[in-house]
Amino acid sequence: MSVVAPIPTKSTALTETLATPRELRAWVGERRRQGKRIGFVPTMGALHEGHLTLVDQARQHADAVVMSIFVNPLQFGPHEDLTRYPRNLDRDTALASGRGVDALFVPAVETMYPPGAEIRVIPGETASRWEGKMRPGHFTGVLTVVAKLFHLVEPDVAVFGQKDIQQAVLIRRMVKDLDWNLELVIVPTVREPDGLALSSRNVYLDTAGRGSALALSAALRRAHQLFSSGERSAATLQREMEQVFRLHPGISVEYIAIVDPDHMQPVTTVDGSTIVALAARVGTTRLIDNIALGQGLR
Ligand code: AMP
Repeated sequence: MSVVAPIPTKSTALTETLATPRELRAWVGERRRQGKRIGFVPTMGALHEGHLTLVDQARQHADAVVMSIFVNPLQFGPHEDLTRYPRNLDRDTALASGRGVDALFVPAVETMYPPGAEIRVIPGETASRWEGKMRPGHFTGVLTVVAKLFHLVEPDVAVFGQKDIQQAVLIRRMVKDLDWNLELVIVPTVREPDGLALSSRNVYLDTAGRGSALALSAALRRAHQLFSSGERSAATLQREMEQVFRLHPGISVEYIAIVDPDHMQPVTTVDGSTIVALAARVGTTRLIDNIALGQGLR
């Protein structure tokens, strides 16, 4: 009787963990010489089904998938949750590997920002609103790390979530303005069955907070309902969404943005391209969510 080695299934496929630019470049270079298209999914870890859906999309567009896990200090404000941000590399590695990630790039902070590093990617007007206003310097941190990661991985395709819509808009802008030769894929937000957008920060919510957090998706659903039934006034959508928040105790709205999809400037009349984005606080936890009115909540 011959002994046949089991064919590795996706869940047992080996994911390589790479820690330095040299290891990463060697790994990517080898695949590129084999003619493979490289897909890239940047994350801060604490993986959930949202991140893993980005991996599925990357696999559809590429032959080899690199995911980065890096909690980027540059994008956190001094009073934000950098130190308590959830980190669990063993769990993340198992999840990524189970979904077919081929390589994980997990650099140390000193690797990404060695002493003396000082150059930043400074976004324009689009970053001055909404998230950018609430979190000064946040998008400079995001674009700087994404620019570095793009240079390190040199992906053919990079995949981001619509969940962080202003980030996606700014990365699209950066790719265009700085002439990056890569394809961007933006994936619709993955939600819990009750509508709550998956987020690594949901672990901060207790049971009551979890209930209050449903106001975000409920308000977006209300905006979409109004749009579907013919309402075109942004002011009316805004008023009705505020009403939904009044019905949910324990949550306070930071902003409701009813905006164009290119520069996130407020519109007075909505159409199928309009984005409705919002941020709210449940206790000390900040949550964000959005929909494109033309697509609705999905
Ligand atoms: P993060 O680890 O929070 O920096 O997120 C990494 C990537 O996952 C970003 O492109 C996010 O927009 C995306 N992402 C986060 N949550 C979701 C979600 N619920 N659905 C789809 N993509 C998501």
